[in-house]
Amino acid sequence: MSSRYKCIVFDLDDTLLDTNGRLVPAAAREACHAMIAAGLETDAITCYNERASFIAREPRGNVYKHLVAKFGVRTGANPESVIDAGFRAFHQRDVGPEVALFDGAQSLLEHLERLYTLYLVTSGNEATQKQKVALLGIERCFTRVIYVDPRRGQTKLDAFREIMRMEGGEPGTFLSVGNRVDTDIATAKELGWDTCWVRTGEYAHMMPDHPLETPDYEIPQIRDLGARCRL
Ligand SMILES: [Mg+2]
Repeated sequence: MSSRYKCIVFDLDDTLLDTNGRLVPAAAREACHAMIAAGLETDAITCYNERASFIAREPRGNVYKHLVAKFGVRTGANPESVIDAGFRAFHQRDVGPEVALFDGAQSLLEHLERLYTLYLVTSGNEATQKQKVALLGIERCFTRVIYVDPRRGQTKLDAFREIMRMEGGEPGTFLSVGNRVDTDIATAKELGWDTCWVRTGEYAHMMPDHPLETPDYEIPQIRDLGARCRL
């Protein structure tokens, strides 16, 4: 093995799991219905379309705040509750058997787990993320799965630091693999890790806007990881 890496840290949604293709349409519909039920002043189709076009235009923006600012809320409704209803409906939900890994992800993990220490660090509602991991049956590929819940103030930076504490070694022996230039790339580079940006999913068009967000490697799909990073 010629690789310099000892430890590879994967993101889940839109990196290994085809979240945008399989889960986002239903989650976005449920978020729109929840916001309308809480008082958003529009109909479900208009909300759904505006959500998609806002994310296409402004991937770094807060889509829930935007929908409330754009459509307003019915008399007596609380704008903050409407925002919260959308966020919760999108992130905290039951996922069904439709979850699936991207092509090649399963065999990639099975190959890499024999050569490297693998971690999965996934951000979102813990119960929902645990359900995804269980349905995919991938937990056994990882030394540990770390759940990061931003609503409880947890961050990927803390999780990455914890991994470094547990594993030891030079920062350059860690590789972070993920689909977002902010949470998966910049956070890892802040610690001196190498990074690989997988340009899939709803945020594939969100470009690096400062040096820390510029990845060391870039691949169009997860199945290209081994060849690109010489793993
Ligand atoms: Mg992701």
